[in-house]
Amino acid sequence: MNVADKQEATVYFEGRPIDLTVERNNRARRVRLKVGRASRRVVLVLPRLVSLKRGVEFAQSKAGWIVGQLAALPEKRIFQDGMSLSFLGRESVVHHSPAAKRGVWYDQNVIWVSGKEEHLARRVRDFLKKEFAAYALHKARETANKIKARVQKVTIRDTTSRWGSCSRTGHLSLSWRLALAPLFVADYVIAHEVAHLIQMNHSVAFWRLVADLSPDYKKAEQWLKKNAAYLYSFSAEI
Ligand SMILES: [Zn+2]
Repeated sequence: MNVADKQEATVYFEGRPIDLTVERNNRARRVRLKVGRASRRVVLVLPRLVSLKRGVEFAQSKAGWIVGQLAALPEKRIFQDGMSLSFLGRESVVHHSPAAKRGVWYDQNVIWVSGKEEHLARRVRDFLKKEFAAYALHKARETANKIKARVQKVTIRDTTSRWGSCSRTGHLSLSWRLALAPLFVADYVIAHEVAHLIQMNHSVAFWRLVADLSPDYKKAEQWLKKNAAYLYSFSAEI
């Protein structure tokens, strides 16, 4: 067991190192391990009164569990030349065009990416984020109009626990990974969050509103459950 510094630590499983990120959390009640399905980082959460040494001992005792969690994650899909993906419901392929000086652009189901290969994955992700931000803002406002609600702002993030969220002030947050889901699924998450502008709960009335806005909502929920790991497997980092 090796404690490098306050932020990082390492435990071992059958002689192989596993890097941990250590997070102090004054509100945490007990030592906890998290394996990020998007980041693939192993995080050791330490409550205020638990020493780093004790936390790392705990993580070491769970090394087999950590390895199992990491092994259960699907293989990373790093954006690359020739890759097929669904972009806002359109079956598309990524195409690298190193000499073109146009950034990233979309034409006839091809996501064209110029520049060096080492920037390609990040550029594709940024493109998906930007396009989804524009689409989601438009769709959210259109959906909100139907129920006389008001969307102030839509922020696109890499959320890991929820696909979307909504504040009382009309601020929606959505995962950029929804750009890779079928359109009716992305539209459902948008409708779900917009419905919260009227009903800040998951009551019967809320679900009735969702059904009005998104008749296929049950199918969309099922799709998300079944394909969550698939959406989280996309990555811009090697
Ligand atoms: Zn909800």
